[in-house]
Amino acid sequence: MNVFSIDVEEWYQGIEIPMDQWNGFERRVESSMERLLGLMARYDVTATCFVLGKVAEEHPDLVQRIHEAGHEIATHGYSHEKVYNLSPERFRRELRLSIDLIQSLTGEKVRGHRAPCFTITEDSLWALDILRDEGILYDSSIHPVFNYRYGIPNADRQPSVIESDDGAQMLEVPVATYPLPDPLPDTNVPCGGGAYLRIYPYWLQRRLLRKIEERGEHISVYVHPWEVDPEHPKIDLPFRVSATHYWNLESTLPKLEQLFQDFTFRPYRDVFASELESLSA
Ligand SMILES: [Zn+2]
Repeated sequence: MNVFSIDVEEWYQGIEIPMDQWNGFERRVESSMERLLGLMARYDVTATCFVLGKVAEEHPDLVQRIHEAGHEIATHGYSHEKVYNLSPERFRRELRLSIDLIQSLTGEKVRGHRAPCFTITEDSLWALDILRDEGILYDSSIHPVFNYRYGIPNADRQPSVIESDDGAQMLEVPVATYPLPDPLPDTNVPCGGGAYLRIYPYWLQRRLLRKIEERGEHISVYVHPWEVDPEHPKIDLPFRVSATHYWNLESTLPKLEQLFQDFTFRPYRDVFASELESLSA
């Protein structure tokens, strides 16, 4: 069974604008999440929603609606600052704040985490111990690809158990990648959603996921709410940021509609239920 997840954040939180400037922008996360919730209900998809702490603070009703619709709520941190730019102390503080906000709204323990922009890299592996220490049982922040902002190209592509020095264990579940054959070792084609879902024609996206399936491997795909909101404001950004942020936004919804017909999706909580149970024991 495959996992579908959503990094629940505003369009301006996903483009590296510092938190102290967020007040000037139009909030659109409620309406774009409603589109995703409607689509998932239509195709019987349940997902893991990695909610940003700041979104939980500003839109408590939205978090409760997502929860009541049967989706899993996990954390995307609080401020959307990249993990390798945070001190371990601030990372822990923000993580706790986001977990407390979410748990007070859902009444359920937060088990999962995804770092902003997949920024658990070689420079921020210290974050894994803090996650486990704060009760997180699975993480989906290590992306085994080359990218200017993130990635550990030779990291495991498939779910693996990470053990910290004190013996505590956590499950790491990367989003989908397809491995290129030798002579290109550790070269994985990203195909787990986000900008790549918008960039690839759907037939290619589907073919890559089918090839992963043929290998008998796990598939995890994600999107952001702003990716189903092509009308959100266009602002001037450095080219490499704006190119991926605004590219082909109008294609996301129709591609998701096809994806939901071609594949079955459930939350991490359900797909890895037995693994998570043994980790929490
Ligand atoms: Zn994000």
